Amino acid sequence: MTTLPELDPHIAQALERCFEAAESIEFRNFKVGVQGPKSWKTLPEHEVYEFKSGIKRNVGVALSVAWPERHVEFERPELLFVYDVPSGQVKTTIRPVFLYSRYQKLSRDLPQTPANWACDHCQRAGCEACGQSGLKYTRCLQDYLGELAQEAHLAEDIRLHGMGREDVDVRCLEGGRPFVLELRSPRRREVDLVALKEAIDAAYPDVATLAAPLRRVPRSTVARIKEFAADKHYRARVRAEAPLDPARVAALADLSGTIVEQRTPTRVSHRRSDKVRPRYIDQARPEPLEAEGLEFVIEIETESGTYIKELISGDGGRSDPSFSELLGVPCVCAELDVLAISASDQELLADDLRELEDL
Ligand SMILES: [Zn+2]
Repeated sequence: MTTLPELDPHIAQALERCFEAAESIEFRNFKVGVQGPKSWKTLPEHEVYEFKSGIKRNVGVALSVAWPERHVEFERPELLFVYDVPSGQVKTTIRPVFLYSRYQKLSRDLPQTPANWACDHCQRAGCEACGQSGLKYTRCLQDYLGELAQEAHLAEDIRLHGMGREDVDVRCLEGGRPFVLELRSPRRREVDLVALKEAIDAAYPDVATLAAPLRRVPRSTVARIKEFAADKHYRARVRAEAPLDPARVAALADLSGTIVEQRTPTRVSHRRSDKVRPRYIDQARPEPLEAEGLEFVIEIETESGTYIKELISGDGGRSDPSFSELLGVPCVCAELDVLAISASDQELLADDLRELEDL
């Protein structure tokens, strides 16, 4: 027959374990939880409730007295202690820290987040070219932007949540792309963000830099930037298979203010449903044709979700119209840069910043 143990020894044990667990963690508020064995399911519910409450209340009060600068927080504690009755151990959960900024991606050969693509040379077997990793990319933008932040916060893990992403071979310049860096299980929360930004900018100036200050934001900012549909400003280098007619290149400016219909590109059709989407081209500004008549640069301002590489190539007729069709010569996008993403920090953070005091 299952019975509840004596309460006082568990209070003493839980308190001691909480003190130990808290030793190397920076936090301003906390909560105490209790977990009983499965066998307690057969006991009267109110008795179990009373027992657990007894531990939570007594330990919570004792910790508050011991830590006058900290308080109990029921909703979203920075540190959650869970006392496990059968083992007498305390497990901790540390609330993540979220940092907002905008990144510049200066490399044309870098994925935004970890990519599990096989090395071109060895197909995962491991070779000299890939440092025996078997992977095409062993580093990603998340590493370059996040590693110093992870170190400063003594975090266990990081996740970069971008407001969309550019392809591996696309740069993101000027104002940069909004993102939130999630620092998981951080043992430090109070970090000098000005100094951290300077350190990140100095670490890999040719790969990744920050175009905006680092700011603490609530978790809700992640969802907010994910759902925000921003207009984009691109610069593309177009390469044609045969010499182009300069007049037809100049006439691409007529795309300004028109709609292009884009069927889901073949390269992303494995993860997006196949349908035709109308996309508004606000501005198309071609520069003069370059030597030999094979290449030119064009700036394009479009609505969120426009596929620029397909707008240029036509993607086998899936983009209508396309540069290939309008110029009468098959074309590809040789280089692409994102110059601007029309979402100001103010627009993205206005609501969230009011919550900052909760952080
Ligand atoms: Zn390899």
